[in-house]
Amino acid sequence: MQFHDPKNMSISVIIEAAELLEHFQWKTKEEVKIYVEENKEEIQEEIADIALYLFELADNLEIDLLNAMKKKLEKNSKKYPVEKAKGKHTKYNKL
Ligand SMILES: [Mg+2]
Repeated sequence: MQFHDPKNMSISVIIEAAELLEHFQWKTKEEVKIYVEENKEEIQEEIADIALYLFELADNLEIDLLNAMKKKLEKNSKKYPVEKAKGKHTKYNKL
């Protein structure tokens, strides 16, 4: 893969995430449900765009994304133990 400026790649991740969010902006939960059924292909493409930039960014920085995700999940599970965090949206330092 070609090396790209990490700043530009990060910006591209955010732009694609914004394009994904655009699909849901201002819609109610019920409207989103119907919209997703009718527009799954377009939503799928935006998710793919995000993943493409994200994977290329990680690759350019020589980051093993799968391993990084596993490590982060492990870290999160310690920060947010199920018995304390389940059903809450409180930040870890307030649990
Ligand atoms: Mg896009």
